[in-house]
Amino acid sequence: MLNFERVKISHEDPAARVKSFTLEPVREYSTEEATAEASRCIGCNICTQACPASLDIGGYIKSTAVGDPAQTVRIVFENLPFPAIIGRVCTHLCEDICVLYDTGGPIAIRHLKRYAADQFPDYGKILDLPRKKFVGKRVAVIGGGPSGLTAAFYLTIQGVRVTLFEKLPALGGFMKTGIPRYRLPQETLDKEIGFITSQGVDVHLGTEIGKDIQFSQIMNEYDAVYMAVGNQTPHMTGTPGSDAVNVMHATEFLRKASFGEHVDVGKNVAIIGGGFTANDSSRTSLRLGAKNVVIMYRRRDVDRPGYPTMNADEELEEAEEENVKYVWEVTPFEYVKEGNRVTKLRYWQNEMVAEKGGRAKPVPIKDKVLEMDVDLVIEATGQETDYSFMGDEFAKMLRLTPHGQPIVDENNMTSIPGLFSGGDSTNSNRDLISAVRDADLAVNGILQYLNAMDQVSEEWLPILDRWKKYSPVSAKIAYAERGM
Ligand code: SF4
Repeated sequence: MLNFERVKISHEDPAARVKSFTLEPVREYSTEEATAEASRCIGCNICTQACPASLDIGGYIKSTAVGDPAQTVRIVFENLPFPAIIGRVCTHLCEDICVLYDTGGPIAIRHLKRYAADQFPDYGKILDLPRKKFVGKRVAVIGGGPSGLTAAFYLTIQGVRVTLFEKLPALGGFMKTGIPRYRLPQETLDKEIGFITSQGVDVHLGTEIGKDIQFSQIMNEYDAVYMAVGNQTPHMTGTPGSDAVNVMHATEFLRKASFGEHVDVGKNVAIIGGGFTANDSSRTSLRLGAKNVVIMYRRRDVDRPGYPTMNADEELEEAEEENVKYVWEVTPFEYVKEGNRVTKLRYWQNEMVAEKGGRAKPVPIKDKVLEMDVDLVIEATGQETDYSFMGDEFAKMLRLTPHGQPIVDENNMTSIPGLFSGGDSTNSNRDLISAVRDADLAVNGILQYLNAMDQVSEEWLPILDRWKKYSPVSAKIAYAERGM
């Protein structure tokens, strides 16, 4: 007999979790719960159309339903090599279009993936990876984040010799520096990144391109290059007073917290911005000892980045449970300094003015100045990519979109032959699962470019665009019903 109600996932008590970087707010399904939840899935795979990496979601959920989580992990590995990470932090847009959304709730796809992956401390024991001989080609990967690691994994297991260059002293990219440890535990990162590198990736940490090694040297010495450098340059608002010592960008704040560096948050923290990075900064501030944390966003709650999705709702709900306050429709216009420190933040309330044919625009109501005390201001206002590390010759050859992203072909090859690019610097979704898709495309593209396709294990090539097998009409209807 089918049970249509989604199996509830339990959460740690907000008062306890807010004191800890190691207590994950969301608990894990037990085996009984995971089996019951997975058994609700009807295997239609409509959800696959919402997954940028085109995972066989219906297939892997069925495996858990029949008590075979190892097969779940094997199916996930067809497209991505870190199921426990993605099972915790994916934006899970797949759940927003699950056909059971209005029938007991969407299948808890993300939680089920986490459950399955966590059953296996060593994936080597359940995966039958090819042990390919060296195919005679060498590829450099620049950037050790999700996209670079995915490409390094799938190329290495095919017998390509991969050298990975990472500027920081640790691998993981944004998974390490931008996602706080309470959402993504260090041991989960270690397990999955360790498994990837143990396939034989030659990792060079603390190596900055353009300084420790020239980009031109890499282009000369390797048969192809995959560039997955993320958005490293913070975009600051330039608000008067932002040169004070207690104003920082969210990427710097989260990176310092991640590496255990001291950050003095004081009592009152204001975060400027309304996206996921603002949320992560707010909850990290609380865990570092702040008492009053306020997120300030210039538009309405329904306009915030990522809305309307289940993921955006969940993140807001969890933050509110931990006592984060949201102030919508405001424009901070001055950080008031005493000496070299900001002590107050001045802002205006906005009104939203309808724009012909576009989004409503926030317009400040300037006749009333509002004020709040602050000990730290964190600007979660986006990042950009700086390509100066490539040197003039190559930077000139790299064609960019008006938004500063490399223009790539259907295989993610840039305008420079042999140079492929992917991840946050290249796609507009800027989420982990899209970074994985870029790498999947580039792996296929690089192997073709290297004329190595006749030497590969076909069953270990990332499967692209699986969603095309399923009805796009049903997906469009499901999206429309969700207002997406
Ligand atoms: S849309 Fe929902 S019911 Fe259909 S396969 Fe995906 S998770 Fe299962």
